[in-house]
Amino acid sequence: MAKKFFRCTVCNDIHFGNAGPEICPTCQTENAYVEITKEEAEKAMAVNI
Ligand SMILES: [Zn+2]
Repeated sequence: MAKKFFRCTVCNDIHFGNAGPEICPTCQTENAYVEITKEEAEKAMAVNI
């Protein structure tokens, strides 16, 4: 099963895995992650660097 990208809708943290974290490790928000495309993840990470 291919892993997917997830993004925290609160702090824009990117997570790569089978599912988004239940609680964001950066902003501590519950269920804040939404699935995004690889292209969106690359764009978001490029901006965050
Ligand atoms: Zn967050």
